[in-house]
Amino acid sequence: MGQPILNIAICGGGISGLCLAVALSKYPAIHVEIFEAAERFSEIGAGMLIWSRTHKIIELMGLGTLFTEIIDQSQYTSKQPSSLIFEYRRSDQHEEASQFYQLNGPSACVHRAQFLDILASQLPPGIVHFNSKLESYTLSGSNRCDGIKSVIRQQMFHDLAKQFGDHYLKYVNPVWTGTTAYRALIPVEQLANVSNGEKHMACTNRMVYCGKNKHINTYPIRDGDLAMVNVVASCSDRSKLEEFYPEPWVRDAPQAELLAAFENWEPDVQQLLIRMSKPTHWAIHHLRPLPQFANGRVVLIGDAAHGAAPHLGAGAGQAIEDAYVLSNLLATMSNVSSLHQVLEAYQHVRLTSAIHVLKESYNMGHITEFDGGFGEEMAIVGAEISRQCMWFDQTDPDGENQRALDYLASLLKLEYEPKSEECH
Ligand SMILES: Cc1cc2nc3c(=O)[nH]c(=O)nc-3n(C[C@H](O)[C@H](O)[C@H](O)COP(=O)(O)OP(=O)(O)OC[C@H]3O[C@@H](n4cnc5c(N)ncnc54)[C@H](O)[C@@H]3O)c2cc1C
Repeated sequence: MGQPILNIAICGGGISGLCLAVALSKYPAIHVEIFEAAERFSEIGAGMLIWSRTHKIIELMGLGTLFTEIIDQSQYTSKQPSSLIFEYRRSDQHEEASQFYQLNGPSACVHRAQFLDILASQLPPGIVHFNSKLESYTLSGSNRCDGIKSVIRQQMFHDLAKQFGDHYLKYVNPVWTGTTAYRALIPVEQLANVSNGEKHMACTNRMVYCGKNKHINTYPIRDGDLAMVNVVASCSDRSKLEEFYPEPWVRDAPQAELLAAFENWEPDVQQLLIRMSKPTHWAIHHLRPLPQFANGRVVLIGDAAHGAAPHLGAGAGQAIEDAYVLSNLLATMSNVSSLHQVLEAYQHVRLTSAIHVLKESYNMGHITEFDGGFGEEMAIVGAEISRQCMWFDQTDPDGENQRALDYLASLLKLEYEPKSEECH
């Protein structure tokens, strides 16, 4: 085998970094290495919703069979368009609530650590360097997947500010959304007999319990043989948007704090919360929409590029799309001289979609917490939820990939087309 044409250093072994490495390692002309700050791959947080759009890409990447194995089969809805994505209830009252909207469509839920295990199992040996924290970079070829606190994005936008003005500084750091969230996994067996021998509906249905400035999202997932319910309980104060939030952004929380936050909510919710014995508490940050993802030979993907609030459950999906599109563009290169155009084509296509999801993720929090300008009129809130989620089913990720390839071809044609006087 000859020398590789491209050497790519990936900073960060989260979902985006591993997806990119798996996709690129198929190409013998590309040499990839991953530098991960931690001593092993790990995911904090538990479950993850995967929209059909992302599922399609996972299949295009050749990971469909492995992926199917980790989906909770009782919730395997991915290929059945009429099945339930989420059931929405108004729950911020003592009395038992009822459903006000049901979102149907294809989707799947998985355990994050299992998804990471699948990706890690597909990596060629010897390409991962653990305990390798990147502090800064020089402009050599690399991809930055180091999460929402990305030191590389910080450097990139500091550099751009020095060159082009201080307005670039507002993209350096993530900002607090004004939302915090309690997260936990509850073993399904603890919810098997909650009232009159009946199991809790969260064991089988995916639920969004809505209330003023708060909402709770639950869905069943599987961790090996263990069936569990993933719970994320969010509390928002939007007047605090972009206020400074001191570290730590993630901490263990006393259960009493969680119970107090939702004390007036319906009995179904109380049944869940009393089983969240050791919740973690997350300050939810997002990025201001970046004007660019690449500078020189350095490119951002995943949360480093478009870290979003979790209310659409789509951040990891967008990271996977980044990796898919970028790897297909990089695979077209026959020498390093076209890297600039490749990164421009990636940015041209991915910036629009990823920033759309970033903005709508924040807006979705407003809608489910009755603060989205639609008031508390349930029919209107339901219609708006449907409108927000339509994008995932009605857009084609492979079409986006093709658009990126076509755009690259047009950039390269422009570059190499003979100038008009040379045509004579
Ligand atoms: C409460 C919550 C619920 C969510 N639910 C969903 C969901 O249902 N569906 C969905 O699609 N998304 C969801 N998301 C979003 C999803 O978790 C993220 O978008 C996704 O994990 C981003 O992956 P990443 O690889 O870009 O970043 P990360 O997962 O943050 O990985 C970054 C990696 O880089 C490493 N690193 C950092 N700095 C350095 C450095 N200097 N040098 C070397 N390595 C470094 C880190 O150790 C880490 O391994 C949710 C997020 C939250 C907070």
